[in-house]
This record gives sequence, C-alpha cells and structure tokens, in this order.
Amino acid sequence: MEKYVIYKQGSATEPYELELTLDSITISCTCQAANMGLPCKHRINVLNGHTYDVINKDDENVLMAISVASDTIRQSVIPKYLKEHEAAKKNLKAKNEAAEKIFKKQRDAIIALALKKGTKSATEKASADLNNALQDCVNAAAEVEGLLKALQTVFIRP
Ligand SMILES: [Zn+2]
Repeated sequence: MEKYVIYKQGSATEPYELELTLDSITISCTCQAANMGLPCKHRINVLNGHTYDVINKDDENVLMAISVASDTIRQSVIPKYLKEHEAAKKNLKAKNEAAEKIFKKQRDAIIALALKKGTKSATEKASADLNNALQDCVNAAAEVEGLLKALQTVFIRP
C-alpha cells in the first residue's frame, strides 16, 4: 500500500503532515483537530482536490495522489454510499410499515382473546411475529446507521 506524504501549511509554524493512501482513500493529519478525531479542514481540502497550501506540490506524485483521491471520492465513493444509504432508508421504512401491520394483528388477537373469541396460541403467535418484525426494524436501522458512519469516515480519519 503506497503512502503519499503531503505537507500543508496551517496556522502553526510547523507544517502539518498528511498521509494519504489510495487503496481505500484514507487520510491522516498531524494537526490538533485530527488528533481529537475531528474532520480537519486540511484533509477535507485535500480530498476536495485543493492544493493551494500544499508545500510539496512540485512533487508530481503528490499532486497525482490528491487528484486521484478527490476524483475517486467525487465519482464513486460518495455517490455509492449515498445510493446505498437511500436504499437502506427505504428498506427501514418498509420494515417499519410491516411492523405496524403486524402490531395491529397482535392487538386484534389480544382483543379477540379478551372477548373470548380468540385463542391464547393466536396471541402468542402474533407476539412472536411482532418480535421478529421489530428485530427486522432494528437490523434495518443499524444498516442505515452503518452506511452513514461509512460516509463520514471517508473524511474522518484521525
Ligand atoms: Zn489537520
């Protein structure tokens, strides 16, 4: 895995050192914000293809790496995650709607039992169905959350 070292002049006297790898587009920075796990402007600027405060921009490999990283993110990584995130949100909505229908069935089964028109086994089955549907919702929500995190980590690499 090839690493490209980019020197950027920030507010400090010493330049910040950014390390970029292109395999999975990861970028680290030596600034204080990055050390605290925040998405610093040095990395965001590089990932957006800005080179104005890059000190070693006469190094063609560095310029090429910055250009490849920003193009990759613009053209593939972000649209891919956004698309997957959109699909996961639709899936979550569908699971929520399904759970709501099953919840109504469970409620009807409990009412029927109370009116002595239903059976205990019917309410037990309705409860089990609802538990499964709720678990589906939890899984779908975790997928949405995971994709959102994946999108954020494109930028946030301490
Ligand atoms: Zn930084």
